[in-house]
Amino acid sequence: MSIKLDNVKISHGKFSLQADFEIEKGKKIALLGPSGGGKSTLLSAIAGFKTPDSGRIFFENTDITSTPPAKRPIALLFQNHNLFPHLSVRNNIALGITTTLKLSLKEIETIDKALLRVGLDGLGNKMPSELSGGQQQRVALARCLIRKQPILCLDEPFAALGPALKKEMLDLVQEIAETTNATLLMVTHQPDDASYITDQTILIAEGKAHRPVTTNKLFANPPAALAKYLGN
Ligand code: ADP
Ligand code: MG
Repeated sequence: MSIKLDNVKISHGKFSLQADFEIEKGKKIALLGPSGGGKSTLLSAIAGFKTPDSGRIFFENTDITSTPPAKRPIALLFQNHNLFPHLSVRNNIALGITTTLKLSLKEIETIDKALLRVGLDGLGNKMPSELSGGQQQRVALARCLIRKQPILCLDEPFAALGPALKKEMLDLVQEIAETTNATLLMVTHQPDDASYITDQTILIAEGKAHRPVTTNKLFANPPAALAKYLGN
């Protein structure tokens, strides 16, 4: 077991979401469901930015319900606003591994390798405003990757990318999750993206985050809430 949500309830005013499931280590999981269903809220709770009203969250066998975000074994890519506009691309990525920004040669090398990996070789000195939206999201992905955390959470990471680049980035995420044996949680609106790289899907709809189900089986025989979302 990698992550376990034990009878968790999370709310924002009138909105509430229940989650009671376990995720196996190294699985690649899609979080799928209607807009406003609670996908981002669930990732925020797992990453520690949103405190549940009740229930416990475990990583392996450790209760992390009260652990601050920076101390959790999790790297999270938010849906938007991942970069600090006043810091260079290289320094934005550096924040994944240091808070001082006085980088050693080795750190600079690690960052430049990560830039190469996400297809942004040589752009370390640029400012975020000089990059496209898709490039900015790849910088944020590079920052997640160098943290080398056992759990990688991505919230609609590639919505701003065209189809070819998106496929390339999905391939990269898949390769990284597999080589590091990370557990991947990825929010997506696209059933195709879910089928493409994930083993299992968590359906988030009608106030509930369902337990993970094999992605292909889920789409082959969608439950009512999924059929409604897919529009069949
Ligand atoms: P999704 O990511 O599936 O689109 P969200 O988790 O962003 O859904 O939102 C779930 C519900 O919680 C929505 O009704 C949204 O309006 C509400 N919500 C999300 N974030 C906040 C917040 N910071 N303050 C108040 N309500 C919020
Ligand atoms: Mg969201």
